[in-house]
Amino acid sequence: MEKIVSLCKRRGFIYQSSEIYGGCGGVWDYGPLGAELKRNLRSAWWNTMTREREDVLGLDASILMNPAIWKASGHVDTFADLMRECSLTNKRVRADHVDPQDGVVMKYSGATSPTGWRWDRVVSALMKNGEHIESFRKRIRALIAQNAGESAGKPEEIELLNEEKIDAVNGSVDFHPETGGALGEARPFNLMLKTYLGPTATEADVTYLRPETAQAIFAQFKNVFDSSRVKVPFGIGQIGKAFRNEVTPKNFTFRSREFEQMELEFFIKPDEAVEIISGEVAAWSEGADLSEPQPNWGWELWHRYWVDQRTKFYQGIGLGDVLEYYWQTPADLAHYARACVDILCEFPFGTEELEGIAARGDFDLSAHQTASTKSQEIFDEELKTAAAKLTDEQKEALIQKRLAAEAAKTKGEPLPEPAVRAWFERLFKGSYVPHVIEPSAGLDRMALAVLAKAFSETEKVDEKGKKEIITVLHLHPRVAPIKVGVFPLLKNKPELVAKAREVYALLKKHMNCFYDETASIGRRYARQDEVGTPFGVTIDFDSLGEKGPELLDTVTLRHRDSGEQERVKISDLLGKLLPLVS
Ligand code: ATP
Repeated sequence: MEKIVSLCKRRGFIYQSSEIYGGCGGVWDYGPLGAELKRNLRSAWWNTMTREREDVLGLDASILMNPAIWKASGHVDTFADLMRECSLTNKRVRADHVDPQDGVVMKYSGATSPTGWRWDRVVSALMKNGEHIESFRKRIRALIAQNAGESAGKPEEIELLNEEKIDAVNGSVDFHPETGGALGEARPFNLMLKTYLGPTATEADVTYLRPETAQAIFAQFKNVFDSSRVKVPFGIGQIGKAFRNEVTPKNFTFRSREFEQMELEFFIKPDEAVEIISGEVAAWSEGADLSEPQPNWGWELWHRYWVDQRTKFYQGIGLGDVLEYYWQTPADLAHYARACVDILCEFPFGTEELEGIAARGDFDLSAHQTASTKSQEIFDEELKTAAAKLTDEQKEALIQKRLAAEAAKTKGEPLPEPAVRAWFERLFKGSYVPHVIEPSAGLDRMALAVLAKAFSETEKVDEKGKKEIITVLHLHPRVAPIKVGVFPLLKNKPELVAKAREVYALLKKHMNCFYDETASIGRRYARQDEVGTPFGVTIDFDSLGEKGPELLDTVTLRHRDSGEQERVKISDLLGKLLPLVS
C-alpha cells in the first residue's frame, strides 16, 4: 500500500489535501492523472448505467438539501457509528475497528512535570507483548505531552504517578489500536457534517452536507417521473460528492470524509402488482437467465439482475478477478431491506466493500411520502386493467398471502391488517409506491481498487549489472488516464518531430495523449508504463519513408502489457485505438 501511495503522489494521481499545512484528515486531492482516471471511471459508470440503457435517467442534484429530508430518511436519528474515546489522548476510534490485542495493562494515577503542570486523571494503557517497559513509558509520556500542549514541558521530564501492573490481557478490544490507551464506553456518533444555510447561522439554519447521493433521487422521484414519460420499471442514476464525518478515516482514500458516490435507484413494481399483471412472479434459481429483464420479474430477480450487471461492469474495467460477494444475513439486514449484497474487492489491506446492492422495498419513498405528505404513488393503467379482471376470491387470496408474510416477519413491526387492506385497495386501482433496488458504488474506492489491481513491480538488471525496480500499472485501457504516448525517435530531427506532432494532434482530439521527446525511447516507454498508459506510438525514420515508400506514414504501435510492437499506418491509427480505449 505504501508503494501505491508513494506512486500516486510522485506521478500526480492523488495528493494529501492541504499538504502544505500538514494535511486535512480523511480528505484527498486528485492530481492531473488522478483526475483523468476518476473522469474515465465516472464516464464508464454513467454510460453503462444511463446512456446505454433505455430505462435509466440521470440526475444531478445539489449537495445541500432541506434538512427535513435527512430527518425523514432516518439519517438524523440513526446514521451513526459507535465510537470509543482513548482515555490518554481523547482520540476516537470506531468501536468495530478495534482489532483484538494482547499485552499487560499498566495503570497510573496521573502525571506531573517540573513546569508545575499536573494531570489528575487515572489512566491505563496496554503495554503490548514484546514492548519494553522503558519504551512503553517513553511512549506514554510522549502521548501525554502531545495532548497537554506546551504547559507540560519536555516529554522526557514528565513523571508518571503510581505505576501499577494490573493484568495480562489476551484478545482485548478495549485499548486504542494506535495509542494503547484504555477506551471509554461506546457512544453513537452521527456521521453527518453539519453546516448552516444562510447568514444568521442559528440552530434553525442547520443543514447537512449530504452523506449519500441517494436521498436526492428519492426526493426528486416524482419530478423525474412526471417530466420524463417513463414507466416502472425504470431507474434514476446520480454521481456526486458525499460527506461523512468518519470516526477513523483510513486506508488512503478507501475511507474518506469527502468522497464521490455513483448510485442508481431502480424503481420496480411491488411483487403483488407483478403477480396481478403477469399471473405469477418468476422465481430465482441458480443459473437463471438474467440477460434480459422480463415482465414477470419480482424484486428478487431484479436484485440478482443488478448484481450481475454490476459484476459485468467491473469485469469491463479490469476488476473481474478480484471480486467477492458478501450476502448479508437476515441478522445483518436493516428491517426494511429484503436483501443486500456487498461486492467486495481485494485491496492491499484486505478484502473490503466496493459497492452495496440492496433491495430496499418501498421504505424510502414511503418515508418521504409520510414526512412530506406529498404522494409518491404512481398510477399504472396495465395494473388497473389486470386487477379489474380478478375475482373477489383471487383478491382475497392475495391479501391473505401478504398478511401471512407480515405475520412471519422477524424484524420490524408487521403492517396491521387494516393498513394491508388499504394498500391493496389502492393497488387494485392501479396505484402504488414503487419499490427499489439500489446499487451504490464509491468512485474513490473504485479508483483505488483499479490502481491496486494494476500495480506491479519487477526487478530488472541492466547491461551494467545494476538492479532497477520497474513499476508498471496494468490499467485497463478504458480507465487509463493517458491512452497513448507519442514519441519522435529523436528530438533533434525536425522531420521526426513534425510528424510526431501531427500524430499527436490527430489523436489528441479523441483521447488523452502525452507527447514526449526527452530521454531514450526505452526511458520514455518506462515513464508511461509507470502511469498505466496502454499504448505507445513511435515515429521513426521509416515513418518518413527512408526505408522505402511502403513504410511512409506508418508508425510503431507498442502495447504496454505484451510488449508487442506492430507497424500501423497513421491513417489507421485512430480507428484501431478508439474501440480499445472507449
Ligand atoms: P462502509 O461499511 O465501508 O462504511 P457503507 O456500507 O456505509 O460502507 P454505503 O452507505 O453502502 O457504504 O455507501 C455506498 C458506497 O459508498 C460504499 O460501497 C463505498 O464504495 C462508498 N463509501 C461509503 N463510505 C465511504 C467513505 N467514507 N469513503 C469512500 N467511499 C465510501
